[in-house]
Amino acid sequence: MESNRRTFMKIGGLCALGLGALPVVDAFAKLDQPKFSQDPQALVGKKWAMVIDMKKCWEKGKPGCKDCMLACHKYHNVPTIEDEKEEIKWIWTDEHEHVFVGQSNPYTEENLHGKPFIVLCNHCANPACVRVCPTKATFKRKEDGIVMMDFHRCIGCRFCMAACPFGARSFNFRDPRPYIKTELNASFPTRERGVVEKCNFCNERLAAGSLPACVEACKCGALVFGDLEDPKSGVRKLLASHYTIRRKPELGTEPNVYYIV
Ligand code: SF4
Repeated sequence: MESNRRTFMKIGGLCALGLGALPVVDAFAKLDQPKFSQDPQALVGKKWAMVIDMKKCWEKGKPGCKDCMLACHKYHNVPTIEDEKEEIKWIWTDEHEHVFVGQSNPYTEENLHGKPFIVLCNHCANPACVRVCPTKATFKRKEDGIVMMDFHRCIGCRFCMAACPFGARSFNFRDPRPYIKTELNASFPTRERGVVEKCNFCNERLAAGSLPACVEACKCGALVFGDLEDPKSGVRKLLASHYTIRRKPELGTEPNVYYIV
């Protein structure tokens, strides 16, 4: 505790000397964190990823199935806001031509036209959002590559939203709490007006030994989650046995969500 206080005083001194805000934010981010022991049931990986088998979703899923989206939004207290400009979404669907920009032609479009593609944050290995965040509210976890959001640290500047080429982030233009239509999940924090949010690969569920809510809810097995560094994982087996694509690979963000189309 005393060493934390000393560090805090040093950082305060740097601030007073006007040595710039960014090094100070860095220094705060490195303050000793309390140590917690890990749940022995926790799912541990070095590079989490998801493979989405769209064919399975369309062929084996119920028509118009939204189980994965409903489960995610319920678990994370995501509000339902009808106004498209203000809606909050962690996982949703979009059309082929929007999801795979530049990767379609009129003939593939003919085949895929009107089909819903599941989209979410790609937990990019080289995330543009993280590079631009001035407060480190969004950061990539070293241990497993999940791109996290610290709601308390977010100042609502929305640089991350401008930087993300996938539209994977939503901004709370209003207090989201009155718009939570499902029963409140007291184990996950609600957000405030002025805060950005997005999919977190269910890091809190992994820590307790559960798969992401969307994966658990998907009964046709279209969503597979696992560790890319583990050659025996389900994601590695799918990637080895299927041709897969990622969104906007030319931008170099290296998405960790793969699609079988
Ligand atoms: Fe960041 Fe967007 Fe990549 Fe998610 S998809 S990690 S928000 S750049």
